[in-house]
Amino acid sequence: MHWKILIGMSLGVIAGLVLSQFNWGPSFVRDWIKPFGNIFINALKLIAVPLIIASLIKGVSDLKDLTNLSKMGFRTVFTFILTTVAAVSIGLLLVSLIKPGASISSETRTDLLYGYETEASTNINKAVARQDTGPLQGLVDIVPENFMAAAADNRNMLQVIFFALFIGVGLILIPAETAKPVKDFFDGFNEVILKMIDIIMLSAPYGVFALLAALIIDSPSIDLFAALGMYALTVVLGLILMLGVYGLMLYLFTKRSPLAFYRAIAPAQLLAFSTSSSAATLPVTMERVTGHLGVPKEVASFVLPVGATINMDGTSLYQAVAAVFIAQAFGLDLSLGTQLGIIATATLASIGSAAVPGAGMVMLVIVLAQAGIPEAGLALIFGVDRPLDMCRTVVNVSGDAAVSGIVAKSVSQVTESLDVVPKFKP
Ligand code: ASP
Repeated sequence: MHWKILIGMSLGVIAGLVLSQFNWGPSFVRDWIKPFGNIFINALKLIAVPLIIASLIKGVSDLKDLTNLSKMGFRTVFTFILTTVAAVSIGLLLVSLIKPGASISSETRTDLLYGYETEASTNINKAVARQDTGPLQGLVDIVPENFMAAAADNRNMLQVIFFALFIGVGLILIPAETAKPVKDFFDGFNEVILKMIDIIMLSAPYGVFALLAALIIDSPSIDLFAALGMYALTVVLGLILMLGVYGLMLYLFTKRSPLAFYRAIAPAQLLAFSTSSSAATLPVTMERVTGHLGVPKEVASFVLPVGATINMDGTSLYQAVAAVFIAQAFGLDLSLGTQLGIIATATLASIGSAAVPGAGMVMLVIVLAQAGIPEAGLALIFGVDRPLDMCRTVVNVSGDAAVSGIVAKSVSQVTESLDVVPKFKP
């Protein structure tokens, strides 16, 4: 499958480049190719909410008691935070060593700010609106007042997760014979959803072809890419290091070969790259992790939906690099205290980022505001945000998969009733 997806991606880039040479090419791609990419993404997003509900309810109720749930929950969140802080620190270290912002002249800065001001300011406004809501708003946002409204918007995954966990807890607490029909229903529902994902994935090579062809047509000019090249390279280098960290962590915790891990999750990574959305990739991450990495369903169906929503190592690394890059471009010096503040806010901002394209950039404004870096700087990095979004989503998804392996290994040693046998297959 991942070869087919790779071929689809490459042909999409080639088609985009060739067609952009003709006058009629861009409108042809937008009218006749891009819609197929949109259909593919819509189908994946369509599955995301039912998948989270079915798999979390099944996952939690399979845990049989609340001690198991809190054990797994604690380990999962702890590992998520650990990997996120590692990612931000790698980002900060690299951007301080490479100093990509120092090479931006004031003319280039003016050009960059000029070209994207309007679009970027829409993003700034969105993010500022979020910021104005008080310190506990993040907590309030987790509890939906209406489940249907929460499920109706893919940006509210945390609310859907809350509701599904709540049902799962309810199921654990009622007598087994009363819970059985409900559990059986969700078990069956879960299987149906997984089959639907298989069907959608048959069209993945064509979907990613259309997405990449459209992306090439809609990309900003190469000049801007060149000016931002060092910044983009710093982010990408950090992301590659982070992928290495996952391989190493898995090896240390589970003694499994990192190569087997990368091979197992490659299709999910390619899809993350093409869709820029961890939520849209979730169905495939789930299938790869359970079917090819040997992570038990009980663990994957808890760790992955939560991870897709709150664990965004790629996003947090990018936010740290972007914040310091903007500061460098504006000639600001950041104190050690400010840099520590960036670690804290980038961790929180990545938790708060929705698992959809471009969300990380919207939340970046919180990091900038806290560090006293001009928010207008968002316009500087706007031109290369999309390709970096594609790359950071790959790391977001890989991080969730790696943590699911680590948690699987850790609970198997302590929770016999989970019946967890980590058998990582290549
Ligand atoms: N697109 C990313 C994701 O879905 C979030 C972001 O960094 O924009 O994982």
